[in-house]
Amino acid sequence: MKKCLVVALCVLLIVSACGKKEEQKPEASDGTRRLNIVTTTGMIADVVKNIGGDFVNVTALMGPGVDPHLYKATEGDMRRMADADIIFYNGLHLEGAMGQVLEKLKEREQAFAVTDKIDRTLLNRPPGFEGTFDPHVWFDVRMWSMTAEYVRDVMIDFDKVHAVQFGENAQTYVDSLHELHSYVYELAKSVPPAQRALITAHDAFGYFGKAYGFEVRGLQGISTASEAGTADVQELVQFIVDRRIAAIFVESSVSPKTIEAVQAAVAARGFDVKIGGQLFSDAMGKAGTEEGTYIGMVRHNIHTIVNALLGGRMAQPI
Ligand SMILES: [Zn+2]
Repeated sequence: MKKCLVVALCVLLIVSACGKKEEQKPEASDGTRRLNIVTTTGMIADVVKNIGGDFVNVTALMGPGVDPHLYKATEGDMRRMADADIIFYNGLHLEGAMGQVLEKLKEREQAFAVTDKIDRTLLNRPPGFEGTFDPHVWFDVRMWSMTAEYVRDVMIDFDKVHAVQFGENAQTYVDSLHELHSYVYELAKSVPPAQRALITAHDAFGYFGKAYGFEVRGLQGISTASEAGTADVQELVQFIVDRRIAAIFVESSVSPKTIEAVQAAVAARGFDVKIGGQLFSDAMGKAGTEEGTYIGMVRHNIHTIVNALLGGRMAQPI
């Protein structure tokens, strides 16, 4: 009987969760039809929402905790993308398992990679990632603000009636991103340079390291599709012990097992490295939480990193 009740409650929860998604209204408050926009990641959906406001319906295919490197489009996703006015994706092979689908949609001039207009000289070309660029551009807040400018231009092409509003909203958003960049930069400086090392499950933080002065090591490489070898683990363990790094970090979209294994291997060498907390790397947090927005996610990450590397002695966040 109890089991039935639990099942019934779960069904109810699922139905109400689906219901929430369908709440999107086709018309904006001024009576015009809302642009129907589909994005791959939550970070891109956040940009679109900030620029589009009331004049767009936005659906992110990849929710909290979803790994974009491995995500495969479902039948429902294919339908949503076919029905969309615009599809925004990250590009630079972030969505590795959706590559062909997105290429086809791009040919039909329906899909746009938000990283397309970033100057290629700003991008990292990491070794071992099939000769392409590092796709994790959202970790350099200034670079992410460039994607917002491109998203604005595409949206204006599809909806000229709201060009002024999109322009104003984009400016407000870009201004707040520039503020965020300075905030992260200043906070990062509070960690002594020798301690500014960021160790995570996969190599997502290359741009973060470059922008904010951290040495970055990821166990799994740029894509989670690659696996860490024993030699990689041993090298990382040696680095942590030699540099007496206070903390290493798990990621919300990657299994914590590999990082826990590193911690155990470090302990076997007689050094205690803490798990400094969970970082939101390739996916944002749940909707309605601070980490469920791009700005909140970035703030959470820098607070977690600085606090852990300073052994819990970070001054109160501003
Ligand atoms: Zn990644």
